[in-house]
Amino acid sequence: MTSTEKPEAAGDLPAGDFIRQIVAADCQSGKHPEIRTRFPPEPNGYLHIGHAKSICLNFGVAAETGGRCHLRFDDTNPERESEEYVRAIKDDVRWLGFDWGDHLYYASDYFERMYQCATKLIRDGNAYVCDLTPEQFKPYRGVPTRPGKESPHRHRGMEENLDLFQRMRDGEFPDGAYVLRAKIDMASPNLHLRDPALYRIKRAHHHRTGDRWCIYPTYDFAHGLEDSFEGITHSLCTLEFEVHRPLYDWLLDAMEVYHPRQIEFSRLNLSYTVMSKRKLLQLVEEDRVTGWDDPRMPTLAGLRRRGYTPASIRHFCRRIGVTKFDGITDMALLEHTLRDELNRTAPRVMAVLDPVKLVIDNYPEEQQESMTAINNPEDPDAGTRAIPFARELYIERDDFMEAAPSKFRRLTPGREVRLRYAYIVECTGCEKDADGLVHTVHCRYDPATRGGTAPDGRKVRGTIHWVPASEAVTAPVRLYDRLFKCPNPDDGSEGGSFLDHLNPHSLETVTAYMEPGLRNAAAGDRYQFERRGYFFVDPLDSRPGTPVFNRIVPLRDPWSAKEGGRR
Ligand code: ATP
Ligand code: MG
Repeated sequence: MTSTEKPEAAGDLPAGDFIRQIVAADCQSGKHPEIRTRFPPEPNGYLHIGHAKSICLNFGVAAETGGRCHLRFDDTNPERESEEYVRAIKDDVRWLGFDWGDHLYYASDYFERMYQCATKLIRDGNAYVCDLTPEQFKPYRGVPTRPGKESPHRHRGMEENLDLFQRMRDGEFPDGAYVLRAKIDMASPNLHLRDPALYRIKRAHHHRTGDRWCIYPTYDFAHGLEDSFEGITHSLCTLEFEVHRPLYDWLLDAMEVYHPRQIEFSRLNLSYTVMSKRKLLQLVEEDRVTGWDDPRMPTLAGLRRRGYTPASIRHFCRRIGVTKFDGITDMALLEHTLRDELNRTAPRVMAVLDPVKLVIDNYPEEQQESMTAINNPEDPDAGTRAIPFARELYIERDDFMEAAPSKFRRLTPGREVRLRYAYIVECTGCEKDADGLVHTVHCRYDPATRGGTAPDGRKVRGTIHWVPASEAVTAPVRLYDRLFKCPNPDDGSEGGSFLDHLNPHSLETVTAYMEPGLRNAAAGDRYQFERRGYFFVDPLDSRPGTPVFNRIVPLRDPWSAKEGGRR
């Protein structure tokens, strides 16, 4: 089933999703003295917005019930894992606003205990060492509609199995020579129960255990044990693990260890981006982006660098809720959530991104005034500020049109427009360069309209922003846009590879002219540039006195059909 959540359609706060209902019932019945959840990333990439959904759920459920949530690195796949990822994941979870306290765990710390559990399976006749490689085993496993075939090694004696398993560990055999398998049911309709692999020989250097191990447990074997060792009460995972649950349950029962309950929910998919770590890694490795924290990436590091607030991401996760239905959430909802917050909290300032000069011909050359601007009309406590006003200003190029249609509400010869917080002006014409490009617009002002209202009550339909030409500060502004130009870049529906759908205009850098106060914009500050969008002072590239701005989102969604679409 698919559904597309639109900003309008999404309720704000789902009343206790199905997982919270299960947890509440377990609290009420006294089944557990304390709720314990975990967020179990594999340190093989940076966290993305999909992980945020899982983090908010796991840490949220624990916090709401007075329980605890573990941060556990599921580091059982050494080839693709690293300390850099471990560090980044910790930073991102903290940034998102969650705290695991003393409860930081690593699957690799359990390797010895896991090994002992595997030997119990062997001793109880529930596991055997198999000579078949995964590829050779495939035809034995068969297809769901037909039973599989037993491995020729399925009935090896217990002593021989124990001996072979020990020798696998001791490094006597080459990689892939043997596999430890659970002995379950080769006729099960669930392929995961057809003697799944539990341990493989793999000489890979582990970022924490070094070369101590040359056998590594599979996800299915390791994950349930990790949950069990930590006394997790509710093991929350994404829907694709539903078919693994019978194996999760079988293994824990067979090993006779504490048995948490696995509950699955649907993963977050977001339009106009990709969420697979493999694809995100490819974007980084092929230099399609500047790194995992490129502001166009759906990673938490990228969203943070772009200017998203942790609160807006948490709020977004509450809005999408937790269900069992797979769907694609519209990127517009994430952007909308941020606008909602910054509309209330970000100071509004004037900045011109594509400047053209405006000369007020009847304004005295030596005159300068100070105009009073409201910092945020949504926030009465935000106060006001002064902006110098003079004869020469900069305005946006697209706020002038030489031959404009009747509904054009901005500057065109013969019509009036309001300069925000200043005067009503009437456009009188323009000057162009040799190529016909407008470089200066001329107008006359009405001195009786200071503050922007006409004493005779005449209507002026448009209001435009401006900055004083001589006192403006200039700063680089990076106009980020969506990384992909189609909603589903990686589901094949658009043809080609996901790389074919990268948006070639996802980053444009301009030099903007800004009101003088923005010289003091500090790294990490957020602003609304009036009529242009929400902007963030880049924390890495900005220096005191020379800020660099990232556009987080434009004020309105240029991708929505209502706004004319972009495709
Ligand atoms: P892979 O297993 O391919 O490396 P993964 O996205 O499953 O990638 P993990 O590090 O295993 O990455 O994920 C950690 C936790 O985050 C898991 O519990 C997983 O279910 C959850 N998670 C991952 N992606 C999403 C998503 N898009 N929406 C919700 N939860 C997610
Ligand atoms: Mg995973």
